[in-house]
Amino acid sequence: MHEMAIVDSLFQIINVKVKEHQIRKVLKVKLKVGEMTAVEDMTLTACFEVYAQNTVVEGAELVIERVPLQGKCRQCTKVFQVHNYNFQCPQCESRSVEIVAGRELYIENLEVEK
Ligand SMILES: [Zn+2]
Repeated sequence: MHEMAIVDSLFQIINVKVKEHQIRKVLKVKLKVGEMTAVEDMTLTACFEVYAQNTVVEGAELVIERVPLQGKCRQCTKVFQVHNYNFQCPQCESRSVEIVAGRELYIENLEVEK
């Protein structure tokens, strides 16, 4: 499962931080998740809760912030929001489009108790 692997790597990062800063409890985990990652909130939350069990993360709130898919036209440099994976520039109709947002998947913020 896609989400399980993601949560696994998120917890590796969290665990390093927990050790580094001697965190006793994690209260909130804020994630940035791009539209392109095709991650489902419900599944992600469920996996998160499984991993959090019996750790300092148990009971923490998982906040998922979605990042919409954005493209930038290589012809006219217009930046636009991509809908339904239609990578065509609305200004010049070029299909040479670079993805500038929507692929992120990282922890933006950890709220902790020391
Ligand atoms: Zn264009």
